[in-house]
Amino acid sequence: APGIVVVGAGQAGFQVAASLREGGYKGPLTLVGDEPALPYQRPPLSKAYLAGKTDAEGLALRPASFFSDHGISRRGPDRAEGIDRAGRRLLLAGGDALPYEHLVLAAGSRNRPLPVQGADLAGVHQLRGLADADALKAALTAAPRIVVVGAGFIGLEFAAVAAGRGLDVTVVEAAGRPMARAVSPETAAFFQAAQEGLGVRFALAAGVTALRGRDGRVQAVILADGRELTADLVVVGIGVLPNAEIAAAAGLSVGDGVRVDPFLATSDPAVSAIGDCARFPSPHAHGLTEDGTVRIESVQNAIDQGRCLAARLLGQPAAYTALPWFWSDQGPHKLQIAGLSAPGDASVVRGEGSAFSVFRFRGGRLSAVESVNRAGDHMIARRLLGAGTPLTPEQAGDPGFDIKALAM
Ligand code: FAD
Repeated sequence: APGIVVVGAGQAGFQVAASLREGGYKGPLTLVGDEPALPYQRPPLSKAYLAGKTDAEGLALRPASFFSDHGISRRGPDRAEGIDRAGRRLLLAGGDALPYEHLVLAAGSRNRPLPVQGADLAGVHQLRGLADADALKAALTAAPRIVVVGAGFIGLEFAAVAAGRGLDVTVVEAAGRPMARAVSPETAAFFQAAQEGLGVRFALAAGVTALRGRDGRVQAVILADGRELTADLVVVGIGVLPNAEIAAAAGLSVGDGVRVDPFLATSDPAVSAIGDCARFPSPHAHGLTEDGTVRIESVQNAIDQGRCLAARLLGQPAAYTALPWFWSDQGPHKLQIAGLSAPGDASVVRGEGSAFSVFRFRGGRLSAVESVNRAGDHMIARRLLGAGTPLTPEQAGDPGFDIKALAM
């Protein structure tokens, strides 16, 4: 039998393979990846790894022996270039064609390019993979003035590390506040102040019109209002694009990601998609998107979808309903989010100072909880949202109301 072939040896690809073996799958299992390293965790790339607190070995999800011991064959670095659906073969850039019984697309996402002149100058970096992190780490030693384009999680985590090393950091953001799509105004304001406390400057509601260089190296970031920010190094973090091209070329249903059903199957039952590249219907997306589907870029989602798909391939199908949760570490502060919020959701704050949670409500219903340095609240929120236990804004706003008891 041709077995199961997985495109992408990242968090989701690794998980589906590991869970298949754990669940007793005995057939051939191949992970195709285009990066040279063993499957690894990305979160530390903008945190501990960048700060020099862990090395590449510390990022690996498992040592090489795990893959040989479990009969998981790793192909690569090689790129999947096409899918021959009629012949059930995955076509690799290296020239091979791998037959499959079931194909898993776990190709992740890539950084959205900055669409301005000068974006290809030397000294302009991004941060997605280990190679990016190594290049950035090396460049940091000779770059006193840094401009980060995009105040998303990765840009801000990087900014905190760079500022912590005494470098001069300015964050440019098109929206009026940091993390505007992902967190409440309250949480955004806290992290902006915390970053400013580390010495980071912000240029908000600011569009980048060009990067200017000299002798091929970046020197300045030009803003729409005419300001010029001197820069020895620019880090671009303006979101990602799902790696869905080979799915689209093979005629699978795509649209901001590979479209899958509640069981994570694509429009071809012999092909599934998981992780950053997959767009799926979520019971936690109520009122968030028109069609109730989302695409989530998080470790939780990659792991839980890997497990859910492995169970189906082992004969125990279940719809994917796992509660989304996420974290971001910026300087000394830890942000944890449970659920899915929309920018217009109402906020109710519990706690104060540098330890608080923002309960978000959409249509009167709890949509998400953002906890800042309040890990206990995060765990309670995961229980509440996971079980669908109703909580009113009045209860959330009453310091005397025992939310923990409600969650138990
Ligand atoms: P990936 O882990 O990206 O793996 C996809 C793999 O497929 C990659 O190796 C890619 O090169 C490969 N690939 C792509 N196309 C092909 C092809 N055609 N052929 C072969 N291989 C291919 N999430 C959190 O929850 N918390 C965090 O704090 C956090 N921090 C992050 C910090 C950084 C710097 C980054 C980049 C991400 C962070 N994330 C975080 C997001 C999280 O890492 C991702 O959501 C997760 O890795 C997604 O898993 P995945 O398997 O879908 O994709």
